[in-house]
Formats: sequence, C-alpha cells, structure tokens
Amino acid sequence: MKTELVIDLEAEKQEILKRYRALLRASKSTLQKGDKKEIRKAFDMALESHKDMRRKSGEPYIYHPIAVAQIAAEEIGLGTTSIVCALLHDVVEDTDITLEDIEREFGKKTAKIIDGLTKISGVFDTNSSLQAENFRKMLLTLADDVRVILIKLADRLHNMRTMDFMPRHKQLKIASETIYLYAPLAHRLGLYAIKSELEDLSMKYLDPDTYKFIAKKLNEKKAERALFIKKFVEPIDEIVHEQGLVADVYGRPKSIHSIWNKMKKKNIPFEEVYDLFAIRIILDSAYENEKADCWKAYSIVTDLYRPNPDRLRDWVSSPKGNGYESLHTTVMGPRGQWVEVQIRTQRMNEIAEKGFAAHWKYKESSNDNGLDQWIQKVREMLNNPEANALDFLDDFKMNLFSDEIFIFTPKGALIQLPLGATALDFAFEIHTGVGATCIGAKVNHKLVPISYKLQNGDQVEIITSSKQTPKEDWLNIVVTAKAKSKIKSSLKEEKRKIADNGKEILERKLKSLKITYNTDNLQKLSYFFKLPSTQELFVNVALGKIELKDIKEYLNTEKEVESRAPERPENLSVDGIKNKIKGGDSDILLIGEDMQRIDYTLAACCNPIPGDDVFGFITVSDGIKIHRTNCPNAAQLMANYGYRVVKAKWNKQQELTFLTGLRIVGIDDVGLINNITRVISTDFKVNMRSITVDTNEGIFDGSIMIFVNDTEHLENLIRNLLKVKGVTGVTRFDA
Ligand code: MN
Repeated sequence: MKTELVIDLEAEKQEILKRYRALLRASKSTLQKGDKKEIRKAFDMALESHKDMRRKSGEPYIYHPIAVAQIAAEEIGLGTTSIVCALLHDVVEDTDITLEDIEREFGKKTAKIIDGLTKISGVFDTNSSLQAENFRKMLLTLADDVRVILIKLADRLHNMRTMDFMPRHKQLKIASETIYLYAPLAHRLGLYAIKSELEDLSMKYLDPDTYKFIAKKLNEKKAERALFIKKFVEPIDEIVHEQGLVADVYGRPKSIHSIWNKMKKKNIPFEEVYDLFAIRIILDSAYENEKADCWKAYSIVTDLYRPNPDRLRDWVSSPKGNGYESLHTTVMGPRGQWVEVQIRTQRMNEIAEKGFAAHWKYKESSNDNGLDQWIQKVREMLNNPEANALDFLDDFKMNLFSDEIFIFTPKGALIQLPLGATALDFAFEIHTGVGATCIGAKVNHKLVPISYKLQNGDQVEIITSSKQTPKEDWLNIVVTAKAKSKIKSSLKEEKRKIADNGKEILERKLKSLKITYNTDNLQKLSYFFKLPSTQELFVNVALGKIELKDIKEYLNTEKEVESRAPERPENLSVDGIKNKIKGGDSDILLIGEDMQRIDYTLAACCNPIPGDDVFGFITVSDGIKIHRTNCPNAAQLMANYGYRVVKAKWNKQQELTFLTGLRIVGIDDVGLINNITRVISTDFKVNMRSITVDTNEGIFDGSIMIFVNDTEHLENLIRNLLKVKGVTGVTRFDA
C-alpha cells in the first residue's frame, strides 16, 4: 500500500501490544484457565495474517480486530470464544487463512462462528432481493448461534466509529444500513447502549447539520443542567439511604438521535423537549428483594415529586420481550418541568445495557425468558420456505422496534404480542389452524370482530368455524410477522389451486380454437389482456373475469399486437436507464462519479433545494430522483438499493427557484399575517404559492409554500421572519 506517511514501525509495534493488553484487561472477568493462551494464539494469527494490511486511515489493520474484540468483551460482555472469533473475524475473507486452518487451531465451534461472520460480510452489496436474501441468511446464523450477530454488531460499531476516512458515498451507504437494520437489531437484542451509539453515529453522517445543531444546543446548557440534576437528586439520595437502600442516583443524558426523533414526532423546537436527560436510581439489591426495593424507591421519589399518573411503566413485573426490566415514572420537578425517573437494580441495569449476553449470565435466576421466545419465533419464520425474502425482511423489521402488550388466554396463560396486534394476530399466535379458521373473538367475555385491536391485559377467547379460510384483506388486519406469512402462504396456495383450474379451462379452449398451447402464445395472451403473468391469466380465466369469447377476438387482432411481452421494469439495467436520461441539459445539479449534467427530478417527499446535502436515486420509471440525505426515505433507499444511488452535488446558481415549505407559529396579533407576507414578498421578493393559517384562541399556526434559490436564501428569510413581532418559531417542512 502506498502512503505518504512516514511510519515508525517500532512505535507501532508497541502500540499494538498496548492495545492487546487493554483487551486482556477488558476480558479479565470472564477468563478461565487456558483462555489467555487461546486469545494470545488468535491474536498472533490475526497479527501475522493482516501484517501487510492497513486501514483507510493509514493505521495498521490489526487495530480493527482488536477493537472489535474489545467491544465484544467490554460492551457486550462476551467470553473467550467470542473474543477469539472477533480477533479472527476478517482473516478468512481477507487473507490466505482458511476455515480448515481455524478449525484445526481453535476447534469446530470457533470455525462455525467465523464461517457465519464470513458469509454475512457481503450482506448488503448487490440488488435488493439479493440483499434481503442475504439478510435472511444472516438471521439464520442468529438462529444458529447468536454470537455471530453480536460480533457483527461489534464490527459494525467499530466501523461506524472510524468512518471519517471513508469517501462520502460509502459513509452514506454504511450509515443507512446501520440505521435501517443494525440499530433495530441491537435494540431487539437489548443492547441499548450500542443501539443509541449506532443511531447517533448514523445521524452524524446522514444529517450532519441537525446533528451538530443539537450537539451544540446540548453543550450550551450543560452546566445549568448539571446543577438542576444535582438539586433534583440530592433529597432522593438522602432518603433512599435513610431507608436502608443501597443505591446509585444520577442523571443520564438522552442521545442526540432520540432528542431529534422527539422534535420531529411532536413537531417542537429543541427548547421544548423537556426530557433531555433521565434520572436513574440503580439499586444494589438481593435477588429476592428486587421488586420490593424498586417500589420502595418509587414511593420515595413520588413522595418528593408529584408523578404523572399516565406515565408509570412497570417492566419489573412484566419484562419487555428483549429482557428489559425497569420501573419508569415521570414526575414534576421543582421548576415545573417533567423529569423521567428510571428505577432498577444492578442486575436489571446490566441487562439494560449489555442485553443478550448479560441475560444469559443471569439466566438461572430469571423465570420467563422473552428473548428465548423471540429467537424461537425467528426460527419459525425462517423455517417458512414460502415467504419471499423481501416480504420477510419487511415483516421482520416491523417486529424489531414495536412495543409489546400482554394478553391472557382463557386459561390465564400469558401471550406477548406487539402493540397494535388484533384478535386475529392472537389467533395465529395460538395456532396456525386457529388463525386460519378464526371468525371472531370474545375479549373480556364480549364479542368482537377479528380486527379488534387488543389492549394490554385483555383476556381473549377465539371463535372458529370450519368453513372459514384466510382472506386477502386479512393482511391489513394483522401486524405480526407470523400471522402475515401464514396468511400469505395460504393465499398463495389457494391461488395456485385456482390457477391450475384456469389452466385446464384455457388449455381446452385453445385446443378447440386450434391455437397451440405454448409459452409464447400464453405470453401473448397475457399481454393482450394486460396481465402481469401467465399465472394471473389462468386465475382470471378460472374466475370468469376473461370471457372465453374474447380469446377469439384476440385471434383476430393477433397480427396487430406487437409480438413481444410487456417490458418488465426489472429488465432495465442501471446502465440502460443512465443512457436513457443522459443528454438533458441542466446547469445546477451535477450527478454521478464524473459529475455530469443529467436530467433529474426533485423528490416530492423531501423537496430538496440547492445547498441541501443530496444524493441521486435511479428509479425504475422516472429517471434520477434527487433526495436530501436526511429525507425520511433516504435510509431505506440507500440500505436496500445502494447500487442505484448516485452522487449529486449542487452547482452554485441564482436564476432558478425551488419550492419549499415553512411552518410559522406565534401569538396571533392584528397584522401578524401582513407582517409575515411583507417580509416574504416585499423585503425578500420571494414568490408564495400557497398560505394556510390556523388560528386557535390567539395561537397562530401557518404553513407557507414559497419559492427560494437555495438554503442560504432560505436561512436568511427564516432569520428575518423570526424577527417579526409575535413569531415564536419558524421551521422548514418537507412535503
Ligand atoms: Mn471487520
């Protein structure tokens, strides 16, 4: 590798050893006799095989596997086998070492995990269905040995931490995958600390301006916040100890990503986000006293501060599916500000931070293991050979982030379902046969339809009928992946039967009309009737939607019909599309590797304007669409279709204008609208397309669509609008 750096090899060697020793210290608590030797052997092998490789930053490659192993040990709490695998996770793929070598040196188990890690390394490379297929493979390894995924997460975390030297388009792609899949997966496995860091790091690359803005805001008030926390915590601390509890009470800042989510969800400025931090009370309790101690602490807090009755969450009695246990409450602080308080024991806290691995450590003492059940469910989903990979990915992802509710069977058994689940979901959860024949349910002894949305604590009895079969619209009723995939495969089976029937009818008909029954003619017929596939043709024949006499008509017009099948969008290659749209003329946006001028359209979902950080996305039918990198759809597009993303950059110009939206809120005052429009049209000479205003008891809330040149122009306008008397907030909105 060529590099301009002058490298002090001796100093580097010392640094490598230093990092290795830090890794040993981090893994000390789990080390048993002989483990140190194994780790050393793995380190030596990794060091030797990566010796000529360097990272993009110029650093020796070995820093990376050491760091991944350190994360696995320290932040996830994994043991020796995982540390060995982390050290060796890139050798089979990048060096001459083979799996057989690994098996010979470290045994079958280690070789199997590294095999899993090597197989999923290319997960997101090619087109979307392949990507989804690969993701399924990755989950197969999860069902096989969860450590593969945990080490993969450590690998991803270290790559995200050290992404500064990557080219921008790679940063965008990696950050998108991370926010789309890895962070939800970390969440589902209970790795809260890693999940938060992955989200923050993704945001840092996908939406750098907002990220920096919030970080700066947080920093400005840091001292003030620390003082507030100190005062808030002091009396709690005192009484907790008086009552003989051993506890650590402290304030913990929320992540930038979660603050931003809240701002977006509630449509509020930074200043109005009240929970920039949470108070934690971590109790040192014996296992048998845990629950009583948590409630004792709760009682102390709520004696001091008034709780919000709607905000009590008890995950101590019913832990979340990912193993999370904690008692949450929101109380009114001394300055009239809501403060969230989380109460849990040290054992619960370790599970909250390290998730899965910590869970295993305490397995003996925990009675009901939600994570076991979840992995069992993943296995069931993977075993369904009918499910298509993209559907599967959608369904699976949906289940990663959802909150849970607990439902009782008639006999009092507890069933966990995602929030929003219906009676029909419950039926499928009980048994596929019960789901498929479900016609209604009794919820708390009252009759309800199958679409009834269940509430936490409902007791449900399913009513079935042997005449019932799954229907197409059931897919809109259910939310669980299990119910969805069962319904889909049943519908598919049903359709296949109908199609078989239609095929026979059509065959007979064609024979009587003396038309040869072959693929070519079937395709021509499908095209004639504007149907996407021959299967659809059969189905339509069977259902009588195609009149058999129309086929005669087809015969007559046959010669006029172009003898080719309809052009399917998948058949268009990226290059083909690129060629099609080349040659347009536009001066203001440069697209692609060589920054050419190509035709494009601006995406309606995020309305980019010059100055925004943007990328191009090659669509199937619409040429190149330009999105903002912080567009709500960006992560999904880049993660799933990375190969269709092209670079795009604005070229400075002033002549053209772009549509964007501003939301203006304030205290209504006579003349407020006048003053606002004066700034917009007179002072700034900006054209307005539309203006909608809501006034409600003196509160003004307006949306204005305007044409601006670029972000600079827009920011200037926003600054001046904020100066208008009565205006309290101006924000840009997307669509
Ligand atoms: Mn790696």
